[in-house]
Amino acid sequence: MTVIRTLTFKLLLPEGGRAALISTMKAYTAAFNESSRWGFENHTYNKFRNHTATYGHVRESVPDLPSSLVQSARDCACDALKVVKCKRLPERIPLAAMRYNQRVITVNLIHGIATIASVRGRIKSTFTIPEHCKKYLHGVIKSSTLSYRKQSRQFFLHIQLEFPSPELITEPLTTLGIDRGIVNIAVCSDNTFFNSKPVKNTRAKYTRLRSQLQSKGTRSARRKLRVVAGRERRFVTDVNHCISKQIVNSSYTVFALEDLSKIRVQKRRGREFNRRLNNWSFYELEQFIRYKAEELGKQVILVDARYTSQKCSVCGHTYKGNRNGSDFRCRKCGFKLHADLNAARNIAQAGISCLSRLTCQPAECSVSLT
Ligand SMILES: [Zn+2]
Repeated sequence: MTVIRTLTFKLLLPEGGRAALISTMKAYTAAFNESSRWGFENHTYNKFRNHTATYGHVRESVPDLPSSLVQSARDCACDALKVVKCKRLPERIPLAAMRYNQRVITVNLIHGIATIASVRGRIKSTFTIPEHCKKYLHGVIKSSTLSYRKQSRQFFLHIQLEFPSPELITEPLTTLGIDRGIVNIAVCSDNTFFNSKPVKNTRAKYTRLRSQLQSKGTRSARRKLRVVAGRERRFVTDVNHCISKQIVNSSYTVFALEDLSKIRVQKRRGREFNRRLNNWSFYELEQFIRYKAEELGKQVILVDARYTSQKCSVCGHTYKGNRNGSDFRCRKCGFKLHADLNAARNIAQAGISCLSRLTCQPAECSVSLT
């Protein structure tokens, strides 16, 4: 088994480097469009036929584009045609990200140097390697992609690295249940609540700002809204990174989460909140926990999300009225607890029973975790 990670670096380009790469992207798009048009008109996504028909002409129209990139543009065009089954003409945004194969880019991850082919020859660029990326540098480079962000006028290099995944910890198997929510971002079955005051305040600030801007509805308000949304997204991502790191670095070796793909989250949590943001951020937290756990040889399991908030974690009595906002009180045995914590304990229990089912199965049998 292997693990794949994508690292992103901001490129520091020499004088004239940015202009050269922008011209390269435009030439690449021109080559792409020519190949895709031919494929669309002749109703084929065959790369070989496309090559024979268009190569000479493309070389003439973009003479400075390295031939490897001409081929890459043609391959991308054929792949795009295949996706739409040649029913419409695939088009490329002029400054969309470009994939570089190893022949047209050399990346040195030790010294932070990338030599990138362009319409004006090879461009030597440098990049700084952030501290948190250093543990990945021993991986094997699988692919490199160059992207351009118009707003900041910056080029970025995305490098996909592959390395063997660490061995799975099987002894001991200790399960932590994690309940994701709106009021508390995450509550763990070991009584940890992730909802610090600064996070709460910042989130409230964004919610207020968003609703103010939405009610205004002017053009400048919409523009401001986009900027604010981006800032909020980065804030949430940062929070998710911190929480997942703390969770994964605990002594537990198995993390149980609700399978949210099967349930409408907002239904049980109330409608008042911006569900789009939450669905997305719940999923992001899950992804972060998953990949951080994977690196440590720990597991993540998804459990059935139904009734986790209504069920009593002591006697198992399931009743809608057991829960009232953040309070949980069992109508049968009288057990009282914070509702999210009760849910987290149910998730942990479901995770443990899931796990025992799994270990009882013969190795070659595939088991669905839900
Ligand atoms: Zn009970």
